[in-house]
Amino acid sequence: MLAVSLAALLLPSIDAGRAAPVRKVAKARFRPAPAPEKCEPRKFRIILDVGHTAEAYGATSARNDTEFGFNLLLAKLIGERLKSAGFAATRVLVTDGKARPSLFKRAAAANAARADFVLSIHHDSVPDKLLEEWEFEGAKSYFSDRFGGHSLFVSERNPHFRASLAFARLLGKELKQRGLQYASQYTLPLMGRYRRQLLDKDVGVYRFDELIVLSRTNSAAVLLEAGSIINRDEEMAMNSPERQELIASAVTAAMGEFCERR
Ligand SMILES: [Zn+2]
Repeated sequence: MLAVSLAALLLPSIDAGRAAPVRKVAKARFRPAPAPEKCEPRKFRIILDVGHTAEAYGATSARNDTEFGFNLLLAKLIGERLKSAGFAATRVLVTDGKARPSLFKRAAAANAARADFVLSIHHDSVPDKLLEEWEFEGAKSYFSDRFGGHSLFVSERNPHFRASLAFARLLGKELKQRGLQYASQYTLPLMGRYRRQLLDKDVGVYRFDELIVLSRTNSAAVLLEAGSIINRDEEMAMNSPERQELIASAVTAAMGEFCERR
């Protein structure tokens, strides 16, 4: 197995930089999880983690906007829709500072708030080698129209892995039912160290054990790459209120179903 740098263990998928290589048989560290309590929407503490920080903003879109900006806007909208649906204890978590410390900070903040569920919101890009150059508003810019779509990540190191996977599947199903397709490229060899094991090939749930925000949180946790902002058409879609509402409604429906089943 290749040596993995510390930074590689800490960062979310492509948009954040350097991810770890695929581990075929990494065993989950056993941490006993308390039995989940019955879910009462009004009291169910959902943390919507805004991926990255204003300072370390993640990916840059094809039109030179920051991923952090996309994440913040979408997380706020999802928060409003969840609250309207009765999930009154939903909170949007914005973290500051440099990339690596912010990952520990956000997990610690979610744990301190005794979160029942953490959903981390991100927008996707591609490995640098796939970037192509173009000009946008007079500035040299980068894009890749080759891939697109959303994706969902869970960690087997999360103490509530099964619940996390269950929610990821529900959300994947809701997105699919709304006509959206997941990003299937994460299984391809060309993704190199970003390659991931696909746990659900119907709705696009991948395994990413090392993600700090998933593995260090005490509650169930899922990371959503809502869509690609390096793909020029998809960036426009992700910027549209229609797509943002579609995703927010998918999250709200999935959370309702998840809560009911508990
Ligand atoms: Zn990100």
